[in-house]
Amino acid sequence: MAEKKTCPIDGAEMRSVFRATLLGRHEVQYFCCYACSFLQTEEPYWLEEAYNAAIADCDTGIMERNLHNAVRISAVLKLLKCEREPIVDMAGGYGILTRLLRDVGFDCRWSDKYCGNILSKGFQAAPEQKAAVLCALEVLEHVEDPLGFLRDAIAQYGARAIVFSTEDFKTVPDSDWWYYSRDSGQHISFYSVSSLEALAKQLGWFYTSLPRHLHLFTASPVAGLRGAVLKSYLLYPYALWALLRMRHHSRTHTDRELLAKEKDGVG
Ligand SMILES: [Zn+2]
Repeated sequence: MAEKKTCPIDGAEMRSVFRATLLGRHEVQYFCCYACSFLQTEEPYWLEEAYNAAIADCDTGIMERNLHNAVRISAVLKLLKCEREPIVDMAGGYGILTRLLRDVGFDCRWSDKYCGNILSKGFQAAPEQKAAVLCALEVLEHVEDPLGFLRDAIAQYGARAIVFSTEDFKTVPDSDWWYYSRDSGQHISFYSVSSLEALAKQLGWFYTSLPRHLHLFTASPVAGLRGAVLKSYLLYPYALWALLRMRHHSRTHTDRELLAKEKDGVG
């Protein structure tokens, strides 16, 4: 059992905080960084077992979450002024969010190494895909090396912003916090607000905390009115306004025509 660990974000020493049982049988040590309060399990040897099904069968919140995310991410994308640029949903799962964002007009592309695309077939990221913004919803808590993961993604897609969700905390939550997801064993990294700030700093980027555990990393600071809207619950009324503005740009029908042409071998 590991006793020591180094923070994958800033290289500082991490201390043992508690032990917990994952998947009903693995006794696992959790560590917390002295510098940034990033929290992480010991080296996750149980992941193969944890990922037998990429999306857990008991995930009843999957549709509600995607509908909610589509609305608020639409607002973020509009505030970042990238309605006409490609977006990539990393770890896009069944392709629900990609479809929803295309339905409101964004050129969103799906990508996922571990899950099959069901709802946005034909709109996966191309091998040389570039993207202005990357979405990573409920991804970073699964990642052992968040800094390396984000650096690689930014370099691969040439992105200038990443919008992502993960439950953040100010003080280390007790060992019975639901987000440790001990039944699934899939969550291994947990982010304090300081660790998110440290992560952005390591990338040479800027961090904006959005409402309800949504986060934004950008290559340049988002200042002024746009920054104020992003940080506040004004994001929701703004989202409704943005969706109304974009209603004529939906890709629902044009995508269908495109897929039909491809199926017929035309174009
Ligand atoms: Zn740290």
